[in-house]
Amino acid sequence: MDEYDYIIVGAGSAGCVLASRLSEDPSVSVLVVEAGGRDNHVFLKMPLAWRQVWRGPKFNWNYTTEPEPFLDGRRLSLPRGKVLGGSSSINGMLYVRGHPRDYDLWRQAGCEGWSYADVLPYFKRAEGNWRGEGDYHGGAGPLGVSATDISNLNFELIRDTVAAAGIPMTEDFSGEQPEGFGIVDLTIKNGVRSSASAAYLRPALKRTNLTVKTMALTERVSIEKGRATGVTYVSKGVRAFARARREVILAGGSYNSPQLLLLSGVGPADEIAEHGITPVHDLPAVGKNLSEHAVFHIQFAMKEPITFLSRLRADRVALSVLQWALFRTGDFATQALTALAFIRSRPDIERPDIQLFFNSTRMDAKVWFPGITPAQQHMLEGYPSMNYPESRGELRLRSANPSDPPRIWLNFLGTENDRATARECIRLVQRIYHTPPLGELIERETSPGAEVSSDADLDAFIRRTVEVGHHPVGTCAMGEGTAAVVDPQLRVHGLQGLRVVDASVMPTVPGGNTNGPTIMIAERAADLIAGKALLAPASDLVATSTASALRSTAATSRRPETANTNEGGVR
Ligand SMILES: Cc1cc2nc3c(=O)[nH]c(=O)nc-3n(C[C@H](O)[C@H](O)[C@H](O)COP(=O)(O)OP(=O)(O)OC[C@H]3O[C@@H](n4cnc5c(N)ncnc54)[C@H](O)[C@@H]3O)c2cc1C
Repeated sequence: MDEYDYIIVGAGSAGCVLASRLSEDPSVSVLVVEAGGRDNHVFLKMPLAWRQVWRGPKFNWNYTTEPEPFLDGRRLSLPRGKVLGGSSSINGMLYVRGHPRDYDLWRQAGCEGWSYADVLPYFKRAEGNWRGEGDYHGGAGPLGVSATDISNLNFELIRDTVAAAGIPMTEDFSGEQPEGFGIVDLTIKNGVRSSASAAYLRPALKRTNLTVKTMALTERVSIEKGRATGVTYVSKGVRAFARARREVILAGGSYNSPQLLLLSGVGPADEIAEHGITPVHDLPAVGKNLSEHAVFHIQFAMKEPITFLSRLRADRVALSVLQWALFRTGDFATQALTALAFIRSRPDIERPDIQLFFNSTRMDAKVWFPGITPAQQHMLEGYPSMNYPESRGELRLRSANPSDPPRIWLNFLGTENDRATARECIRLVQRIYHTPPLGELIERETSPGAEVSSDADLDAFIRRTVEVGHHPVGTCAMGEGTAAVVDPQLRVHGLQGLRVVDASVMPTVPGGNTNGPTIMIAERAADLIAGKALLAPASDLVATSTASALRSTAATSRRPETANTNEGGVR
């Protein structure tokens, strides 16, 4: 029988970190069981190719929601990575940590050891940031982080417009001033995607104490007398059992980790029993508390062909691909996102509740052949995301068959506050994009369009078009009490030898993208699991400077009264 000290289910953002860190100790053996295949495809390495990859079915679990109750029954598409590296192999590569306050609120909610001062050293340990080692960044960690190459992205035009709209600038969203407008960091190293697989797993594969099984679907965790003893998985049609001497660690992501717990009899006992599975441990919070960012596409047709679409002319693409293949530079070595901004919709809240993506072209822009392919209109797109949604969704089993996708409801926009923030998101983008100099280059707003302006019309537009930000969390939430699944050491409450380490343990979604935070969680978890001394919390100096920066941006982010043309708009 196969026997290992640690069994990790899932080689995604968190699983790859754990595999690498735990196998640093040659005296322990580690098995990783991954349902997807290897990540050799060139599109998983070439940064701009993510536009081809993330929607495609090949490296993807291809989940969808159930009919959404507050979106007229629409089903939303939920891509998740199914390949070595998991979602970090198909994601948009933005390196964003969220707001320091996000982590202090986790701590206040009972997650001891997860305040900003506690987690900053783990963000830094993970990171090989282009800025080098400093108070806020790591310089020598495995995860390559570089700045966006803004050469062909109309950066100056957008920056001047945003400044004219009264929004402050920042040099570093992960530094002293997490609020405002700036160039985004990307998980790209030397022109190649720095997925968790490339950064952590691949360099560790030569170790003899690390075994990785790909195309192997874990079906359930075995639990005997309150202790996880191993996992059953199916590979190439053959079912096998692997025993864990120390721990089983679920790192299947926010949809698959709770599904696996439910399939193993751990979760709300009544729901589990409905599917003929014997409940092993009644844990009501499994699959609940699902939180995700809602995003909106606001599009503007341009008078002139100034967008990144020009760079997608077939001959230019051919040259750019060659440039990437030879030198790892050029358009295909980066993400075509001009910039980001973190903005407060109201001055009286303490964290920016809107993350605004400035896309350099329409998201559906395609490579074109002059005179052959139908002309595509040049468009710019503002893509706001709601950082702190109130609505909570849930996940349940569809059946006892591990190959069946789980049933997922996001309950998007289920509260009036969320609907009001969604409207604010759209009005904020309209206000910024219609400000000169950019405003003078816009021919018309194509989506939602000038005629869609009342609250009721905007609500209808939102129901028709809202999409997910790809940051689901909270389904195996960390904390104490009945609303939690794992404790602050990420051990499943009430069981031995079983942890969950992935995005699902975040009790609330951070105000930003979730790959960096997931990797941070796994870095810290690796020390907890190995029983190592934890890294010392960041100094008071860093914590204090962040707090004072927040106070000063609160003053500068207020826009002039005269600029407020929308009723109930952003102040
Ligand atoms: C399209 C998209 C774009 C995104 N863009 C960004 C971005 O730009 N920046 C950012 O910070 N974040 C982004 N994210 C989010 C970020 O990538 C995720 O939050 C993060 O990767 C989650 O890590 P995880 O370890 O929880 O899960 P994952 O990385 O999804 O890993 C889970 C792994 O477990 C495997 N697995 C699941 N179930 C089983 C099973 N039963 N048996 C065996 N293996 C199993 C899966 O195949 C997968 O490899 C994006 C996500 C997506 C999908």
